[in-house]
Amino acid sequence: MADTKYIFVTGGVVSSLGKGILSSSLGKLLQSRGYKVTIQKFDPYINIDPGTLNPYEHGECYVCSDGHEADLDLGHYERFLNVPTTRANNVTTGRIYQSVIQKERHGDYLGKTVQIIPHITDEIKRNMRSLSVKNDFDFIITEIGGTVGDIESLPFIESVRQLRWELGGRCFCIHLAYVPYLNATKELKTKPVQHSVKALQELGVQPDALVLRTEHSLTPDIRRKVALFCNVAEEAVVECMDASTIYEVPLLIQKEKLDTLILERFGLPTDTPSDMGPWIDFLEKRKKATKPVKIALVGKYAELPDAYKSIIESLNHAAVYNNRKLELELIHSQTLNESNVAEKLNGMDGLVVAPGFGNRGIEGKFVALKYGREHNLPTFGICLGMQCMVIEFARNVLGFVDANSTEMDPNTPHNVIDIMEDQKSISDYGGTMRLGNYSCKLDKQSKAFKAYGRELIQERHRHRFEFNDSFKALYEEAGMHCIGINPDTKLVEMVEVPALTWYIGCQFHPEYNSTVLNPNPLFVDFVKACSLA
Ligand code: GLN
Repeated sequence: MADTKYIFVTGGVVSSLGKGILSSSLGKLLQSRGYKVTIQKFDPYINIDPGTLNPYEHGECYVCSDGHEADLDLGHYERFLNVPTTRANNVTTGRIYQSVIQKERHGDYLGKTVQIIPHITDEIKRNMRSLSVKNDFDFIITEIGGTVGDIESLPFIESVRQLRWELGGRCFCIHLAYVPYLNATKELKTKPVQHSVKALQELGVQPDALVLRTEHSLTPDIRRKVALFCNVAEEAVVECMDASTIYEVPLLIQKEKLDTLILERFGLPTDTPSDMGPWIDFLEKRKKATKPVKIALVGKYAELPDAYKSIIESLNHAAVYNNRKLELELIHSQTLNESNVAEKLNGMDGLVVAPGFGNRGIEGKFVALKYGREHNLPTFGICLGMQCMVIEFARNVLGFVDANSTEMDPNTPHNVIDIMEDQKSISDYGGTMRLGNYSCKLDKQSKAFKAYGRELIQERHRHRFEFNDSFKALYEEAGMHCIGINPDTKLVEMVEVPALTWYIGCQFHPEYNSTVLNPNPLFVDFVKACSLA
């Protein structure tokens, strides 16, 4: 649409200030006034996407509805806005260069020298505006990854500078920076903010608003000082204090009137009602939920909660909807063994076994699952977690002691998890992973059917290996039922042991599909079962 408004969010002073949460919160506030909003992220690294990145680098790899492997901030965008994202919402330097180089090979530049300016910046600008081509968004919020001053983000900042000229009044820049508190002198220090804004100004970008992360409230004096030195209006210096939950941030910045400031600058009405009611209800419900539900999350990145961001948030949503306070314990699967499992899982109300790739820590997952199954502890296996459920059941119930996934042991005679024949042909074309939305038909007798309240569901996938159909009859007979089947390929998507209170595994990732106002039914049902204890 011709008059889509663009809001850019940059960050300064330090990384990890929460540009993703700020963008999501602002998006939520604009959406609550009836505007159509989307959020996109430009990441300044050379990888084509984060799919191949180790979680130690950037935390969880989020999966969009179209199967794009994306930065974890896209999870926040969806959880706040309740609108699915696609590959168009997350672009890396790698993708920009890939596209420019392809065009160069194709002869599209007609013999010109291909350069960062204008060719790379033109490609960045084209991508920054591409979401508005097919959609009628009122606002596109663009988060620029990294910190101002980084060499690698220069072309992105330059593109923002150019777009400000091209878009005129349809552009607004927010700079998020940090105000440290010096304990020795008991004061907040604004110099780092001033330097970071100066760095941005040197690149030709004057921020319209500053959002300042701080642990202590900003005095009027500090606001005045920052405004004066950074060339921004005093009312455009916005405080963002640490919050008890990320979901409070929209209300914090609403109190600071960031939304009305932006609407005013764009010449839009500021008196339109903002419907944050359901959001506030969620926060109220969360505050009232004081009774704990204790859940153990077993995975090999226990020291790195960002690796399980979406699972943790889904559990948080589900706890609130069950009027419970989530007490989550991350347990390192490498530290779990037969002799300590009872001590570690004792007192837990539920167990989640995490997704993952490769052998590391896998035996600990089997130990946890065996304990969960034998003690009738509500247990939820997600992706690799479900595959481990299937393997553990084969080893300890079906009696196939050498059962495994061919991912872990390519020569196992009991390959209960394997790459299916039709998948092998796909891998020849390089598409080795099953990614994004696939349908699943649920057995009407299953708990999952009751949880979702319908027979046909769609959830997102990210895996190569599958339940091996040839063992299906043996499992069914021994008490593990295949209760979710892909109606097109017949692949097994869900298993359940109906004799137990809640022992369910899913090949898909329901955690990519849980938002504040629309929690995932499987997580809600799991936490409900955990809350009965
Ligand atoms: N490694 C397993 C597979 O590729 C599971 C992947 C996952 O848990 N996301 O099938």
